[in-house]
Amino acid sequence: MEKINKKCVVLLSGGLDSSTCLAVAKNQGYDCYTLSIDYGQRHVAELNASETIAKALTNKLHKVVQINLDAIGGSALTDQDIDVPDYGESEQTIPVTYVPARNTIFLSTALAYAEVVGAEAIFIGVTAVDYSGYPDCRAEYIAAFETMANLATKAGVEGQKLKIITPLIDLSKAEIINLGHRLGFDYGLTVSCYNANQDGEACGQCDSCHYRKEGFKAAGIKDPTRYVSG
Ligand code: ZN
Repeated sequence: MEKINKKCVVLLSGGLDSSTCLAVAKNQGYDCYTLSIDYGQRHVAELNASETIAKALTNKLHKVVQINLDAIGGSALTDQDIDVPDYGESEQTIPVTYVPARNTIFLSTALAYAEVVGAEAIFIGVTAVDYSGYPDCRAEYIAAFETMANLATKAGVEGQKLKIITPLIDLSKAEIINLGHRLGFDYGLTVSCYNANQDGEACGQCDSCHYRKEGFKAAGIKDPTRYVSG
């Protein structure tokens, strides 16, 4: 049975997956506290998109927390000296766009925020399908984090259990797009590209653009992505 006014924190990146996650959380009757992490990613377009999406779907303040991961580097997304490869260019199992420990850092931040607002769940749009093989997108990782979270917080030891909810974990990109589409979400608001420009226009060449493009094709839904012209 569903409770009234249950609260959740939704990690929102401004991309397709996390936005769908927010649409799902809202549809499940949660009051959604959206949280974006400004971690030194290469463009501000996705942070701008997050804010627009949060405004469109919630009436709560959209929270942005700065965590300077470019001080640590080690990823094409945070280190200016590492290029973002085009799709198919990278040979490794785990590509250079993997950000070391990103979801652990994000979920830990969301955990702190969840405790402050009294949320009983954190929604994160990780998916283990159709993706680049990031270790912190797997179900066993999420389960382990949830166990840790309930040991780590005042709320947890006092009996308010926290759930980490991953509605997309077993869905393909096309299934995610179909889900959001059914919920009436406008994907034109989202930015997925690793190389998007200031205006949020996508490169059309990177892994993320590739999976997104294929996803819309497979879903049979018109792709609203704005690509850099020429
Ligand atoms: Zn791209």
